[in-house]
Amino acid sequence: MDKIKLALPGEFAAIVEEIAPGENTFEENGEIYSATIGVPTINKEKRTLGIKSVKPLAALRRGDIVIGEIVELFESIAQVEISSVEGNKRTALANKHAFLRISELEKGFVEQLRDHIKTGDVLRAKVIEVNDLGTYLTIAFPEYGVIKACCSRCRNYMELQRDGYTFTCKECGSKEQRKTPTANPE
Ligand SMILES: [Zn+2]
Repeated sequence: MDKIKLALPGEFAAIVEEIAPGENTFEENGEIYSATIGVPTINKEKRTLGIKSVKPLAALRRGDIVIGEIVELFESIAQVEISSVEGNKRTALANKHAFLRISELEKGFVEQLRDHIKTGDVLRAKVIEVNDLGTYLTIAFPEYGVIKACCSRCRNYMELQRDGYTFTCKECGSKEQRKTPTANPE
């Protein structure tokens, strides 16, 4: 996909002889400038050039509570694709990828990530660190963990049992355990 070229406030957009100034623009000395951050858009009917304003992409911040899916599972780290951030409308994220280290799964020693989470699972997690190398999550608190478990045999979402951590698959009968949230979100 081509990257959309964004116009910045005060950036030259066109000359008036070519097209008339539209929304979110201003004219100066026969030239049209952008008045906002946005995508230059031509209105063919009115023959104007406007700037469709866009909200800048948001970055994840430490302390954010997120919902995401495990897309890759390695021995000691999992890659999570974030789908939403709780409590605000920052849905357009600048970076949707985050990592979950094995040390952030549960309090205490965990031998294998795949004993507690699986690819395709949907997690509720908290952002604990954002640095140049990436965004890191934790589920090592009672209110975080797997909220939707994906059957490792047939990839269907499974049903949570009464014990609160065992899931069963209606399709293939598989029984699997996960690190689930055991406390309600505050
Ligand atoms: Zn299954």
